[in-house]
Amino acid sequence: MSAKQVNIDKWEKIPCECGKMADKASLTYRNYQVRGWKCHKCGKSYIHPADSLKISKLEKLSGMKVKIGVVGQSLVLRIPKSMAELYDLEKGELVELVPEDLKRLEIKIKG
Ligand SMILES: [Zn+2]
Repeated sequence: MSAKQVNIDKWEKIPCECGKMADKASLTYRNYQVRGWKCHKCGKSYIHPADSLKISKLEKLSGMKVKIGVVGQSLVLRIPKSMAELYDLEKGELVELVPEDLKRLEIKIKG
């Protein structure tokens, strides 16, 4: 017996509790942009389970302190493996640095 693999990423609609169908949508969940489905009849939204899992992992890592290192003339910020995996970051990947204000620097990930 083998478990059947189901790829819910391709589901355009899912049945809603109200009996109608919820359409694929981009949702905002606790300041995070996540994949999911939203019912236009009753307004209920369903978060993609993979994104929900990622967010709970991210929240556990939130506030993690990392030390700045040096390579040649540059300062290097190490991203812990657990966090890199959640963001699908790999060596050689380009990210964008966006200064938010004088105390905050955002790292924007492409894709
Ligand atoms: Zn509904």
